[in-house]
Amino acid sequence: MRIETLSVFPDMFEGPMSLSIIGRARKKGILDFEAYDLRDWTHDRHRSTDDEPYGGGQGLLMTCPPVFEALDELCSEGPKPTVIFFTPAGEPFSQKLAQELSHHERLLMVCGRYEGFDERVMTLADRCISLGDYVLTGGELPAMVVADAVTRLLPGALGDENSAVEESFSDSGLLEFPQYTRPASYRGLDVPEVLLSGNHAAVDAWRRKAAIEKTARLRPDLIDSADLTDDERAFARDIAADSHARSTGDALS
Ligand code: SAM
Repeated sequence: MRIETLSVFPDMFEGPMSLSIIGRARKKGILDFEAYDLRDWTHDRHRSTDDEPYGGGQGLLMTCPPVFEALDELCSEGPKPTVIFFTPAGEPFSQKLAQELSHHERLLMVCGRYEGFDERVMTLADRCISLGDYVLTGGELPAMVVADAVTRLLPGALGDENSAVEESFSDSGLLEFPQYTRPASYRGLDVPEVLLSGNHAAVDAWRRKAAIEKTARLRPDLIDSADLTDDERAFARDIAADSHARSTGDALS
């Protein structure tokens, strides 16, 4: 896969896109990454990419010409990219969207700054993505988040292919089960006995139940769409109701 970013701060990508799993994926040739500087498509002495909004108001907006010209040039080379813009008004980013994007051959991610883009720039977008209901100073961090979440789903990027399959928000729609490592006992906190038993079937059953329980307690909103049997769903709803009753009881007491 090829991931490209277009922003006024291309240097921001250097560390996050060179280290750990992403850095290794690039070395292995699983990911090809390039951070472009939007100022390379400006024509004035100050290499400006922003201007005052028509109608007045606070701050500056990213202008049309550099973004249009950059995309004209970048989209004319190689396979057609999926052009992604980052904006708080976009569709919320999720594991499902990361999975979908991981099947695309080329992602070109455009990062806003200042007060965002001139609205006409948005006509260039194939997708508009939001990282959540809050405002960041720029689209570079969202681009890194998407690049990270997508890269770890690429075949060969993780050491163990099952790592991404069993994780939170994966196919089952549940949170991941609780995990433990050595020592088995620490400061009076013990690892559940079954995990030390060597009985793989019992471990799998415990993990499934623990994942359902954890999801029902912490994210009851996920239960309806999770892949559960009727019995599991009934179990999850009991846990969620109990947890809700406890939290309202706590709030009232
Ligand atoms: N004035 C804009 C608004 O109120 O929606 C916010 C602009 S923000 C300061 C500058 C840039 O950061 C945006 O153009 C976008 O690229 C990026 N950004 C900020 N918050 C974001 C979010 N929650 N999700 C995705 N991108 C975000």
